[in-house]
Amino acid sequence: MKRWGILRGKEDNLVKGLEETTLPFKKLGERYGVSRQAVHAFSKRQGIKRPVKPREHQTGECRFCQKLIQISKKPHSEFISIHTILKEIGASRVKFLYHLQTLRDRGLVDEKFGRLHSKRAEKGYAIYFKKGLSIRMIGQKVGIKNFHSVIKKHRELGWNVPPSLYAYGGRERSRIKSEIHRRKQR
Ligand SMILES: [Zn+2]
Repeated sequence: MKRWGILRGKEDNLVKGLEETTLPFKKLGERYGVSRQAVHAFSKRQGIKRPVKPREHQTGECRFCQKLIQISKKPHSEFISIHTILKEIGASRVKFLYHLQTLRDRGLVDEKFGRLHSKRAEKGYAIYFKKGLSIRMIGQKVGIKNFHSVIKKHRELGWNVPPSLYAYGGRERSRIKSEIHRRKQR
């Protein structure tokens, strides 16, 4: 023990410092009056495993985060389903959620992005945004019983669902008019 000189009797403290803090060898050496090299050698000799310093997630250097930001900038990106996003970034759901949460916490993606679970709804919306089909027809095409209520739910959540491109006429129009009328009365 002699060779540790001033360290003598403080080994336990140093072990603690090495195992429980992320202080650099130099700082610990200063604390115990030995050189950085001495602390390093001691640590190695004792087979100490140092804790990994928690490092902030570098979203700018993370390919998952960058990909997610890129996707989130697409028009109507909240209508892209999680399934599609996972495929595009090539990550598991757990991984995806971790990076997405980091981006949300830092305000780098919209809160609404990455919340759509239904692949059918995604398909339905893709048609809805491009084609002048009735909501009912779109629902039939993609296998959603009541696409109207899906749209309604998303509008209530604050999603930006533009008006339908379909020129409603005849019975459909009067049905919608009466629905709007009913809503107004509520
Ligand atoms: Zn990331």
